[in-house]
Amino acid sequence: MKHRIAAVAALLVLPAMLGACVRRETDERQYTASFLGLFDTVTYVVGHARSEEAFAQQAEVARQKLEQYHRLLDVYNAYDNLNNLKTINDLAGRAPVQVDGRIIDFLKDCKRYYALSGGRVNIALGGVFSLWREARERGLADPARAALPDEAALWRAAEHGDIDDIVIDESASMAYLADPLMQLDVGAVAKGWATERVARELPEGYLLSVGGNVCAAGPKQGGAPWSVGVRVPDGGSEDFLHTLSISSGSVVTSGDYQRAYWVDGKRYHHIIDPDTLYPAVYWRAVTVVCDDSGMGDMLSTALFLMPLEQGLALAEKCGAQAMWVDENGGLYYSEGYRSLIRSDASGG
Ligand code: AMP
Ligand code: MG
Repeated sequence: MKHRIAAVAALLVLPAMLGACVRRETDERQYTASFLGLFDTVTYVVGHARSEEAFAQQAEVARQKLEQYHRLLDVYNAYDNLNNLKTINDLAGRAPVQVDGRIIDFLKDCKRYYALSGGRVNIALGGVFSLWREARERGLADPARAALPDEAALWRAAEHGDIDDIVIDESASMAYLADPLMQLDVGAVAKGWATERVARELPEGYLLSVGGNVCAAGPKQGGAPWSVGVRVPDGGSEDFLHTLSISSGSVVTSGDYQRAYWVDGKRYHHIIDPDTLYPAVYWRAVTVVCDDSGMGDMLSTALFLMPLEQGLALAEKCGAQAMWVDENGGLYYSEGYRSLIRSDASGG
């Protein structure tokens, strides 16, 4: 795992999606560390400390905690002496699995997210998402032969996505998939959920960004807000629609450009509408500002999967602000979002 530490700038613009971090060095006691290998993305920890060594220790604590969540919520890899989500998937229909309490908490939240989103965000539809992922990976490897997943196979897989078949026994700390053909896919929520839990334990004045899932544990030391850039869909890593001023809480974006492939000149992205089993057609990107990064990750996906009026109502119900980008670059805002945009920044 790579680590990097550097003194960073007073104006720090962390993109709200995966991308480079812009820094200018003006304050020698603010540092940033970045590392790779967790949640399939790049993580930044930013904060003040009395020395580089003190900061490095703090960043390493955060990295270790994040690594634990990464392993627990991993659906692809098994680890020695650990029952994780892959274990639960592998034993679907066969046996309940004894798991860490954090997995129980996570699965309970996922059921809550399913209910809140009216079933739009459904981690039990892993079979459907895998068919899309496999088709995308084949299509990216060999674009000339890129193809869509088989329609009948998608509908067959969707028959095994009943959220109630995720059975949780909290007192025994056991989880079980009652449908042998169900597979969990937690790509819509795991990163934000883990980011939230690690950020909560950071000292005040720290910021954590996991693949652009940005979470601030209070304002910077001295009380100034953080600047978080919201990227232009398909733009470069430093092309921002605007920059948000955030003192605490989280900024999360879902976008059709984050993972996509092309078939016969048409883009097919990674956020799947449970009604059509095809990529959702409402938006190019949705950015959510929310106290809780787990909720924010769920919401950015959920709002991507519904029309504006429904999304506005859901954001309000969850105490979140949101911004939508449509096919033509049109922008739509919830009531409180505009006041978070930095007026002195480009595009703001
Ligand atoms: P995000 O980028 O947070 O919006 O999450 C997208 C990822 O969530 C995809 O790569 C899939 O792994 C997964 N996913 C796609 N569609 C859905 C859905 N309708 N419900 C739950 N997870 C989904
Ligand atoms: Mg999400």
